[in-house]
Amino acid sequence: MKKSSKVIPVDSGRRRMLLGTAATLASVPLVNLLISARAEAGDLPHLTPDDPTAKALHYHNDASEAPRADKPGMPAKEQFCHNCRFIKSQSGDWRPCQIFPGKLVNANGWCSSWTKAS
Ligand code: SF4
Repeated sequence: MKKSSKVIPVDSGRRRMLLGTAATLASVPLVNLLISARAEAGDLPHLTPDDPTAKALHYHNDASEAPRADKPGMPAKEQFCHNCRFIKSQSGDWRPCQIFPGKLVNANGWCSSWTKAS
């Protein structure tokens, strides 16, 4: 006994719409990646010490002005944003930080969340 395969006809207008939708959906991750890369490149505003969260965490753009204290593995005077585990970039004077999303922190800054990078 021969199986019959049923072919559902798709008109060309519907085919174009489906292909257009697929192309649009496929481009969304790429757009998100480009926006993210732009934000990482330094288009974000700088964090200032008068920001409410920065105040709560005693953030200073200049670590020497911050109330640093010795922590395991690092004396106070050697603690900076650039050697904190929460910094998200290895270059630049101003860098993204996981604790302050949407803002850039100074590489020579400090806040009370400072934790030695591993
Ligand atoms: S969490 Fe680390 S990198 Fe972020 S502001 Fe505080 S000390 Fe700087």
